[in-house]
Amino acid sequence: MRRIEKINIAYYILFSLSLSIPLIIYCGANIFSTSQETSMGAEFADEIESQVDLLDNEEWMDYVNTIGQKIVSVCDRQDIDYNFTIVDDSSTINAFALPGGYLYVYSGLILRAENEAELAGVLAHEVGHVVGKHSMKKLTSLYGYQFLLTLAFGSDPGLVELLAADIIAGLGMVNYGRNNELEADDYAIKYLYALGYDPNGFVSFLEKLAELRTSNPSFVEKLMSTHPEPSERIDRARLAIAQLPSKENLILGREDFLLRKKRLYNK
Ligand SMILES: [Zn+2]
Repeated sequence: MRRIEKINIAYYILFSLSLSIPLIIYCGANIFSTSQETSMGAEFADEIESQVDLLDNEEWMDYVNTIGQKIVSVCDRQDIDYNFTIVDDSSTINAFALPGGYLYVYSGLILRAENEAELAGVLAHEVGHVVGKHSMKKLTSLYGYQFLLTLAFGSDPGLVELLAADIIAGLGMVNYGRNNELEADDYAIKYLYALGYDPNGFVSFLEKLAELRTSNPSFVEKLMSTHPEPSERIDRARLAIAQLPSKENLILGREDFLLRKKRLYNK
């Protein structure tokens, strides 16, 4: 073997080790500061928003933000600002959360929700991912701390573009894993109940996912690639709801929601 080839192989091994060491040490943990998380999230949000169409409808943007901020007011993480945005894609039922409180819900999901509690349940689940810092933990376990620091300081826009494409495809940092998904479900039920929404709205939306999974799998393909079986989530959610103290006048918010939807889709 020529000397130059040996040197190349040695460098390759050293380079591989330098990537894998932080990956092992920081697996599953998040050691980024809130400001690092927020600046990384802003960078991803800019890139995501250049790759998808956003819904051009002020009423619905305001409405989703109002519900979202209500959830934020009772959530367990108050050190960041939360932004809620609607992706204009009526053939996809999905929602995701970026680091730093950037949350996205697809218009296809809104189209299939039947009351405000169902939509609030999905938003509360996404807020739960931010509260649990799931995307930062996932990013750290995928790429390692040192590597992500280069992203936090904006030195690799090409990589941000690639990672954003993964997020839209339901891969990478939004694939949080079963335990984090179930934790986000627990937060969703807690926040719905605290706000006076009927948490059964969350269950009825999961039932829709289960039904669509057989009747129209392409609609829920991205969501199903990142979330556990709806049946498992439904059983757990029902159990959690049964343990809540009874509360009068829990709301689903059906009529106003359907009117808004009619105005949006003119149906
Ligand atoms: Zn989730």
